[in-house]
Parts: sequence; structure tokens; C-alpha cells
Amino acid sequence: MPPFNVVLRKQHHKRHLQKTTCSLYQTLRWMRRKVSLVFFVRSAEIVPCPCCGKLLIVIGSRPRVWYQSSGRRSILIIRRLRCESCFKIHHELPDLLVPYKRYDAESIEGVLNEPPRRDIAVDESTLLRWKLWFAAWVVYAQGCLQMISIRYNLPVTTVSNTALNGWGEPAPN
Ligand SMILES: [Zn+2]
Repeated sequence: MPPFNVVLRKQHHKRHLQKTTCSLYQTLRWMRRKVSLVFFVRSAEIVPCPCCGKLLIVIGSRPRVWYQSSGRRSILIIRRLRCESCFKIHHELPDLLVPYKRYDAESIEGVLNEPPRRDIAVDESTLLRWKLWFAAWVVYAQGCLQMISIRYNLPVTTVSNTALNGWGEPAPN
């Protein structure tokens, strides 16, 4: 799989005062709000549709929350892409994110590694959900990799049982 090159452009999120009259409390509260950073994500390469392999057309963008291991919250503006053949909509995620997860891949990987990282700003219930999610996902990923090796007749030289380390069934030889 080719590397996913992403261009991150830093830009301060602009908050404009409402045109209507605000009370002093509302104005002070608005001024104390943190200015969050917004990053615009653009892929440096043309990615085909993962379903049919045809061309994807940019149809818009949407915000995506990105939590780092320190707990810092940022907003990514990711592009919405629609396939010109099958009309399915895809979102262009940078490789620092895991689909459907708000924390970045580095945080999740740090928790799942052995020994696990302890400096990630996340509560215990989220840690447990990540571990349960990964235990289910690793079986699926292992099956996908086996199917790819069979389909493209790729030799599997070594099976990393230690990498699974209790997360799933070890792959048969
Ligand atoms: Zn398609």
C-alpha cells in the first residue's frame, strides 16, 4: 500500500461576534472561549474508490475531531469524496487517525502495545473499549491478510505469534 501523504495546513478558527446585541456576560464568555486550531487535510495523491477502483470526486468537506495523547483537541477538515461510478461517499482520513475513533492511532497503539503507555489522557472505560475493539478487530485483520496472501499467491514466511500476544488466535502455518 502506498504511503498516505497528507498536507496539513494550520489555520486559526475564526469566530465572529454575532451581529445581534449581546449582553456583557455573553460577550465576556465569548471572549474567554479557546480558539481551536483547524487543520485542512488534503491528500497528495489520487486515491481510487476502495469499492470499485474508479475515480473519486470531491463533493465537500466536514469537521472531524482529533484527540491527541495529551488530551489536546483539534479539528481536522476532511474531504468528502463521491465515486463517479458507484456513487458511494468516502471520507479522506489521514493515517494518524483510526476510522470511527476520536483519539489518534499513536494513542491507541500506545495503549495496546506491551508494555502499555500510561501517559495517555483517557479514562479507564475508553481503554477497556479499545482493548475489546482490538481483540475483535485483530481476528478480522488476520483473515483479511490471509485472504490477500492466498489471492495474490504471496508467500507467508513467518507468522508472528508474539505480535498477537493473546489478542486473537495465532495464524495456522
Ligand atoms: Zn466506487
